[in-house]
Amino acid sequence: MESNTTMITFTSRVSRITIENATMKRNTQQRTRVTAALTDSREFISAQDLHAMLGAGAPSLATVYRTLQGLSEEGAVDSVNRNGESLYRLCGTAHHHHLVCIDCAATVELDGDEIEQWAVRNASEHGFTMTTHIAEIYGRCATCST
Ligand SMILES: [Zn+2]
Ligand SMILES: [Zn+2]
Ligand SMILES: [Zn+2]
Repeated sequence: MESNTTMITFTSRVSRITIENATMKRNTQQRTRVTAALTDSREFISAQDLHAMLGAGAPSLATVYRTLQGLSEEGAVDSVNRNGESLYRLCGTAHHHHLVCIDCAATVELDGDEIEQWAVRNASEHGFTMTTHIAEIYGRCATCST
């Protein structure tokens, strides 16, 4: 009786691990595909456009959304919001900010000491220890403003 119970417990644990491994493997494949598509796109792209880019056999749009969100939360991809829509891009690993055109896909990467010092100074002036900051500049690019 006792060995039977152990057996059942063991079996269910094994099958659970198998399911977890399969899910993990699928997640890794999805992340690889999404990351590859982001590398190809080069510009900021919406989940919908990225999903279209993946073409036949693509993971569902919901999966693409979730994968992009996860990558963004980990800081593996950059995300900006344009007119209420999240756009994603695989940028360099160095910390930076963006200029984002609200009319087209144009973006410019910005880095500079001023904003970094401004962020740290403002945080510490209010007794905060800064962990992170987000700052994007929105507007119309030279082409779109004419
Ligand atoms: Zn960037
Ligand atoms: Zn523009
Ligand atoms: Zn910064």
